[in-house]
Amino acid sequence: MALLPIYPYDARVLREETRDVVGPSPVLTGLIVNMFETMRVAGGIGLAANQVGEGSSLFVIDLRPMEGFEESSPLVMINPVITDMWGEEIGYEEGCLSVPNVREEVFRPEKLHIRYRDASYQEQELEADDFLARVIQHEYDHLRGVFFTDYLRGLRKRLVMPVLKKIRSGETEIDYPMATDVELVS
Ligand code: ZN
Repeated sequence: MALLPIYPYDARVLREETRDVVGPSPVLTGLIVNMFETMRVAGGIGLAANQVGEGSSLFVIDLRPMEGFEESSPLVMINPVITDMWGEEIGYEEGCLSVPNVREEVFRPEKLHIRYRDASYQEQELEADDFLARVIQHEYDHLRGVFFTDYLRGLRKRLVMPVLKKIRSGETEIDYPMATDVELVS
């Protein structure tokens, strides 16, 4: 197992659409194991592959650190496709390991249906709601180059911009390994 450095806000790999995984492999399995370990040590509950610099379409989720989710199963979603979203748009404060020290309210639909391949590369589908649906949408956005801060508008956007610039330039102090000297979008 290895801890992987986490790529910061506006790293190029986090602004580009990821590529579909083409099949199971020992390398893929190793990446998944390392992503879970990296996420656990950094105190996260979701992590997309491009957050550790791999432009592949997959993310991992483990909600067990959250109150009320202690018995939940960790999830691996490879080549995920959200086929439907519905329900009320709910606001909730989100954070992100690539955007440290920022928490902002984002509105998202409360329910979704998703198809994906699991850690054994078996096809799966899932209907998710509430908190799990939110985390899936956040990670799914990463695979398409979107950060939760992209949803902010007006004053909230203006207030967060200086913080995002500091993260981009590596000036933010974080207690988990962040990738340095990464290529940023211009
Ligand atoms: Zn994130």
